[in-house]
Amino acid sequence: MLRHNIGCPFCGLCCDDLTIKSEPERLTVEANGCPLSERGFSQSPATGGSNHQPRIQGHACSLNEAVDHAADLLGNARLPLFGGLGTDVAGARAVLSLADRAGAVLDHMNSESMLRNLLAVQDSGWMTATLGVVRNRVDLLMIFGSAIEKHAPRFYERFFNNAESMFGQDTSARELIIIGSSADAPTAHGDAHITSIPCPTDRLGDIAMTLRALLQGRPLQAENVAGIPVAQLREIVTRLADAHYGVIAWATDELDFPHAELAVQAFSGLVKDLNITTRCSGMPLGGNNGDYTFSQVATWQAGFPTRISLASGCPHFDPIQYNWERLLESDEADLLLWISAFDTQRTPPSGNTPGIVLGRAGMQCEIEPEVFIPVATPGIDHAGHVYRCDIVVAIPLCSVRDSDLPEVSMVLNAISERL
Ligand code: SF4
Repeated sequence: MLRHNIGCPFCGLCCDDLTIKSEPERLTVEANGCPLSERGFSQSPATGGSNHQPRIQGHACSLNEAVDHAADLLGNARLPLFGGLGTDVAGARAVLSLADRAGAVLDHMNSESMLRNLLAVQDSGWMTATLGVVRNRVDLLMIFGSAIEKHAPRFYERFFNNAESMFGQDTSARELIIIGSSADAPTAHGDAHITSIPCPTDRLGDIAMTLRALLQGRPLQAENVAGIPVAQLREIVTRLADAHYGVIAWATDELDFPHAELAVQAFSGLVKDLNITTRCSGMPLGGNNGDYTFSQVATWQAGFPTRISLASGCPHFDPIQYNWERLLESDEADLLLWISAFDTQRTPPSGNTPGIVLGRAGMQCEIEPEVFIPVATPGIDHAGHVYRCDIVVAIPLCSVRDSDLPEVSMVLNAISERL
């Protein structure tokens, strides 16, 4: 059976136009897919035999027995750590509720990447657009980085190369500037109006700061920055200032170098400076495994986006102390509850800490956890909501097949009732 206009939860763009072919043993993306969605929808069959079987210490058990044992483990833990956290809005609400009862620390598997944006926002704020605004208004798009298509594969197709816009813009006249580690321009948007400037990824913040200085008319003694002639950067500043609606985008997953939040702060500062005389917005791209969803729900429920401790009875945020990897390496956490409902490959870290794993059916853990409960995937096995990377729109997901797997929220609520 073909299902049309299906939402996709496998990256922060949350496309809602996929066509999925649903067969008893497999799902196939028939239209409007990309490599990430094709992998995501095809990962696990609906009827899985042993893949759908909860286990305690590797032995098959009922869901009730697994839930009882998980509740016992949580009740006896000194400092439980809730990691992974790849789930939808309902799952994130349930995990925060259970963490509150258990006095746990919560940290999403993608926190390291998320914090590059979050620390910049906490420190100095930012001005960002929705994806809809990009699609309908942008006339100059500047990208910091060269791997946008890896982290958000359909970004150019849906939001830059769209043939029509709401306000009659000639979208073929749009300009694209890419400053990134590769000199190669992406191929997904033709070859018109593209300026591609090679720059090492860890120097992108320097470039943004230089553009700010030039925009503000400050004197510069350097003749080039990160190998880019200042004269060329001056020309880019002119183009940004002349644009009617510029957008500056980046993918935080790509900014994998120390203190990358300072680069994000520089991108955001450039956006703010440009708004003194014209319109410009930031556009943080990327995201997967429900990271934006968890940070939204955690922020509205606990006041902080991730790396939160509820051990003292009230939320406490510390981006260093509550790093999930640090807590496991130092043996401060004595129990790990790991959730990964979207991706069978995002398995819990191997180590000595006993684990309760709520994993997408088909997940193979390196070390058998104390309790393993296969769970349903939002947008495949059950309906739900996930947040897009512009974090103002929660996309509804529907079920595309019948499934006997329990939802993450149902399992967590059942554990919570038994605590
Ligand atoms: S770009 Fe992202 S949301 Fe869109 S189909 Fe691909 S993985 Fe799904």
